[in-house]
Amino acid sequence: MTQPRTVIVGAGLAGLAAALELGKAGHPVTVLEAAPAAGGRCRSFHDPLLDRVIDNGNHLMMTANTAVFTYLAEIGATDRVRIGAPATYPFVDVISGERWTVRPNRGPLPWWITAARRSVPGARISDWLPALRLLLAGPAATVGDCIPRKGPLWERFWEPLSVAALNTDPAEASARLLAATCRLTFARGERMSRPVTVMHSLADSLIDPAVQRLRERGVELRFGERVRGLTRAGDGRVVAVETSRGSLDLPTGSQLILALPSWNLPDLLPEQAVPTGTRMILNLHFDVGAKADHMPPLTGMTRSEAQWLFVRDGIAAVTVSAADRHADTDAGTLASRIWPEVAVALGQTDMPEPACRVVKERRATFAETPANEPLRPGADCHLANVWLAGDWTVRGLPATIEGAIRSGRIAAERAITALHGG
Ligand SMILES: Cc1cc2nc3c(=O)[nH]c(=O)nc-3n(C[C@H](O)[C@H](O)[C@H](O)COP(=O)(O)OP(=O)(O)OC[C@H]3O[C@@H](n4cnc5c(N)ncnc54)[C@H](O)[C@@H]3O)c2cc1C
Repeated sequence: MTQPRTVIVGAGLAGLAAALELGKAGHPVTVLEAAPAAGGRCRSFHDPLLDRVIDNGNHLMMTANTAVFTYLAEIGATDRVRIGAPATYPFVDVISGERWTVRPNRGPLPWWITAARRSVPGARISDWLPALRLLLAGPAATVGDCIPRKGPLWERFWEPLSVAALNTDPAEASARLLAATCRLTFARGERMSRPVTVMHSLADSLIDPAVQRLRERGVELRFGERVRGLTRAGDGRVVAVETSRGSLDLPTGSQLILALPSWNLPDLLPEQAVPTGTRMILNLHFDVGAKADHMPPLTGMTRSEAQWLFVRDGIAAVTVSAADRHADTDAGTLASRIWPEVAVALGQTDMPEPACRVVKERRATFAETPANEPLRPGADCHLANVWLAGDWTVRGLPATIEGAIRSGRIAAERAITALHGG
């Protein structure tokens, strides 16, 4: 009789994390990925214009992301991320040129908000009180319902944080998701709030070492193979997957993990409810060479289109989250509009606009609104041997690397229990 196996569809971080767990437990695993390589929305590529490897977009993690650190240890890549310690978040006001640095203190009592050298200039202590409304927000509340969307604290702290964390306009973004982010990070003090960035590229830190570890564990990785349909038996089990290269049978007892974005899942499981709507993230990679050598790896930008500037290996890359308004604007226009902001942030206002690669991720995340939260299913679906994973499946967490990895691990645990007859 053929041995049961687990088939994982999707080799983004959720699928990779699931495969690592199953591979570690010694179960036969096949990963089917439509793209020519692993990584999904967290990937790197060689850009011919800049003639170097760049990421599809800047990715920020934080020391509170425990699943990320477990994953890094698992793939032997803990030394391939940079941790900003102690936690410091430099900001620049792009209109006035003013600069300041947010420095959370140690311990859970956030006295940094009262300290001039650590907090947001222009913000009074009373301006922080609405944060309590955010922490106590009900399921239907938006960020905009809880925090007044004007004034220095909004412009200089809440807006860049909220837009980046939820990739959704604060007027419609879930207050509970932002509160969850704050509870996990800033509310736990400096140690949990340190910024974590990749050393050279997303692929180098998060993807390639995982692929290598999976190969060492005997996991079969099949890239460039799209799953087009599922064959179901009368008892509601999936018995085969139909792919762009043929049919793959699932022997009795086998498990299937669908580690897909919410917008791809209906192709295979149309009856499963999923969140509606997606939001775009725009990244502009400017080739500034040594002109950025003096900059910290990460700078928050306020009163600007761009929210965060990442500097690495001579590239100044800025992120514009919740960027759907730019969907139809051509790359050259975007680069010329945003370069002056980057020049201010770099302190290089005389520098002519350098070569720039614009990456539009039109479906970067699902729309993180209160209405979508109940549509996040967790790992379970109504089919007996099918489990769901992906950043959108874990309720209560924003669509992030941390959420994707957690979801993959949870789905793998369910599959392992089922493989053991549970
Ligand atoms: C520009 C950008 C910036 C971001 N910034 C941050 C950040 O700062 N911090 C952070 O934590 N997160 C960030 N994120 C979010 C993070 O990248 C995602 O949460 C995470 O990568 C999602 O992983 P996933 O495995 O759930 O999904 P995906 O990465 O989308 O993986 C799903 C995989 O399934 C494959 N697939 C789809 N359909 C099929 C099919 N039918 N058959 C086979 N394969 C299929 C896809 O090709 C893909 O590889 C950002 C995302 C983007 C796009």
